[in-house]
Amino acid sequence: TVGAVAVDKNGNVAAATSTGGLAYMHKGRVGDSPIIGGGTYAHNAYCAVSCTGEGEPIMKGVLAHEVCARIKYAGNSLQQACSEAVKVDDDKLQGDKGIIAVSPTGEVAIAFNTNQMKRAYRVEGEEPFVAVWKGDNT
Ligand code: ASP
Repeated sequence: TVGAVAVDKNGNVAAATSTGGLAYMHKGRVGDSPIIGGGTYAHNAYCAVSCTGEGEPIMKGVLAHEVCARIKYAGNSLQQACSEAVKVDDDKLQGDKGIIAVSPTGEVAIAFNTNQMKRAYRVEGEEPFVAVWKGDNT
């Protein structure tokens, strides 16, 4: 996956997700990345979200929307919402998952349950770049 989330100076958020899919996937499989609410979601009232990982549990759990729903209905912070959403492992929702998200105020959140997830972010006015290339789920 290559996923991106962004916010502009007016608080408009956007998400984009691209993927090559999974190894040995069935011909014609679409995956979660282009499914709005699955691997990608943005709502100006809450946040923009892009997901990576095993697409089937991400789609079944409507993971990107789940992050916004946790903010809306459970009062989660952005980071809480991402961390809790990644932890959901009910029947058929188990799998490797990673989430990046940004709020309309520019808060950034990252959560994943894989060994590593390459990620980086930049804040306008801060130089040059805040980058984290791998590590544990912190
Ligand atoms: N989420 C993608 C898929 O299941 C795989 C990836 O992380 O790129 O198609």
